[in-house]
Amino acid sequence: MKLESFVRGQWTEAGADLVEVRSAVTGDVVAVMPSGGIAMRDVLDHARKAGGPALRKLTFHQRADMLKRLAQYLTERKDELYRLSFATGATRTDAMIDVDGGIGTLFVYSGKGRRELPNATFMLDGAVEPLGKAGTFAGQHILAPRHGVAVHINAFNFPCWGLLEKLSPALLAGVPVVTKPATVTSYVAHALMRMIVASNILPDGALQFILGSTGDLFDHLGCQDVVAFTGSATTSQTLQRHPAIAREAVRFIAERDSLNAAILAPDAAPGTPEFDLFIKEVAREMTAKTGQKCTAIRRALAPRAHVGAVIEALRERLAKVTIGDPQLETVRMGPVVGLDQRRDVLAHVATLRAEAELVAGNPDHFVVEGADPVRGAFVPPLLLHCADPVKATQVHAVEAFGPVSTVMGYDGLDQAVALANRGDGSLVASIYTHDQRIAADLVFGIGTFHGRLVLIDRDCAKEQTGHGSPMPQMLHGGPGRAGGGEELGGVRGLTPYLQRTALQASPAMLTAVTGSWVKGAPVVTTERHPFRYHFEDLAIGQTFFSKERTVTLDDIEHFAHFTGDTFYAHMDEEATRGHPFFPGRVAHGYLLLSFAAGLFVDPDPGPVLANYGLDSLRFLKPLQPGESIKVRLTAKEKSPRNKQYGEVRWDVEILTGTGETAATYELLTMNAVKG
Ligand code: NAP
Repeated sequence: MKLESFVRGQWTEAGADLVEVRSAVTGDVVAVMPSGGIAMRDVLDHARKAGGPALRKLTFHQRADMLKRLAQYLTERKDELYRLSFATGATRTDAMIDVDGGIGTLFVYSGKGRRELPNATFMLDGAVEPLGKAGTFAGQHILAPRHGVAVHINAFNFPCWGLLEKLSPALLAGVPVVTKPATVTSYVAHALMRMIVASNILPDGALQFILGSTGDLFDHLGCQDVVAFTGSATTSQTLQRHPAIAREAVRFIAERDSLNAAILAPDAAPGTPEFDLFIKEVAREMTAKTGQKCTAIRRALAPRAHVGAVIEALRERLAKVTIGDPQLETVRMGPVVGLDQRRDVLAHVATLRAEAELVAGNPDHFVVEGADPVRGAFVPPLLLHCADPVKATQVHAVEAFGPVSTVMGYDGLDQAVALANRGDGSLVASIYTHDQRIAADLVFGIGTFHGRLVLIDRDCAKEQTGHGSPMPQMLHGGPGRAGGGEELGGVRGLTPYLQRTALQASPAMLTAVTGSWVKGAPVVTTERHPFRYHFEDLAIGQTFFSKERTVTLDDIEHFAHFTGDTFYAHMDEEATRGHPFFPGRVAHGYLLLSFAAGLFVDPDPGPVLANYGLDSLRFLKPLQPGESIKVRLTAKEKSPRNKQYGEVRWDVEILTGTGETAATYELLTMNAVKG
């Protein structure tokens, strides 16, 4: 297989050097790829001049649609990616984690983009902040796509997921990507990239693909660029020290190695479901992807009294793992990615053995099914036991990136917390307990040292997604050794690619710039009711002032008995005596809402198709019988949805007859498009 980079809209085999990539299973050359020799300044220019502007023209919803179409396109072709992944040492199950996990991330970002982001090219961040007493000066934060490039550098272990989990939030945010796969598994990422290019779904310059060396790319980074790196701490530190990173204050996200822990809590004794779940998870994390997962369990912590039982149960489970050619259906675990990786893993195991005893697996003697154990990079699952984890240092610091884990006993929860935190910052820890107090103690003991905590017990056993699976909805990253980065986490994942800007101006100016009406800005009143306007004709700031209505005691009584809401504050004058909020019997908040609807609604069929909810409802002043209310309804924001209708957000204020604010909320309607 001859691989090519994809830059400036073209595939190119140009490169200063040719690099051979070998199969993890047979040691044979499976691909040849160019490295170096690409004019990186031109690559970045193309992203900035073609990709960025094209993406920024699209709204979040349009970009979300693009991700969905891409996910559908890749789903139909994923078998080729599974097939290629065998040579990396991945079984079909391993390949599914990589391929389906990556495509799933595209789908999740597409769904979240449509549901949680506006159909606009930028978004508001938080509420309007009043900055002057008279209401003529206010502040609003906005988030807009940076005018730079997202440089993504990926680790070898997830050639598809790694590329797609970084790509999804960057493209949704509107920032073009230059992605670089790790060399040893580049042929799988290359096949994925071929599919993406062939799909023709992304605009020109939105995604470029660089094989091998990044050359002088970092020299040309600027203040609008973002680097997201996944890999070893050593490479991350080298890249982070590049002068351009500090000089241009380039955002740098690092996802690095991690000494993740699984903690068996004292209540989870042998025989409990939590004990079994712990054993299953430790064994699975050691063998899935042949232990080459940044999230894998490297340290299995158990109460000292249960250490013997833990080792016994793991030994039994690991003995059943068939090692060999990952294409064979009987094989549960393939080789690590290559002979260099095997050398690294075994060297790290040797270091660990100075502090821990090997209790399961023998690196010099194990059975390999269907492949040559010398030419293939096979390593059996290796379980160690560290008898004195308090004194030990290496078991908390050395990541053997293969099927390796160390069991360690602890005395008391405080020690379990201290040991887990000796990882100096990890991506994830899992806790196995059915005791909610223990769970809370552990969560607050180790939480800030971890990016993610998974609490596993019998109640969630069937549905839990596992210790090692980063979910696109949830944060991936961790403090300290783990790199200090944050990726994924739903729409939080867009944060690095968006610039937050604080706008300070008059309400009228803020309204004009953001397209979102701010209280204090002029309102527009028309003879026709605002509900009579189609989506495109309705003006932001268009307002309806209702007439007044008096709320009587009979109204309150009627509403109480009709709805069944006979709460004492509405029914019993005596019971409200001395009450901190109510001066006597008061109207139901929901009665006010209902009357407000009656006051502002324009009943005949028309462009308003449906009311579909309220946001930010606050009851601010209780209303006593005999007082009256009136309503101001102002078109605040419009968000196009499709050819038939769009969403309108209305700012609603219920005022008392004397002009005090009784309640505020935002009403959402779907309004027909005239077409
Ligand atoms: P690595 O050797 O650090 O390589 C990572 C990436 O950096 C590769 O694409 C590599 O490209 C590139 N690279 C290396 N030197 C570079 C340089 N001077 N300039 C620009 N790019 C450079 O790590 P790896 O061996 O692929 O991955 C294993 C490590 O990654 C493990 O420690 C694991 O824990 C960690 N990891 C972390 C996460 C996470 O999310 N936290 C996920 C997966 C893996 P070449 O391959 O071409 O050298």
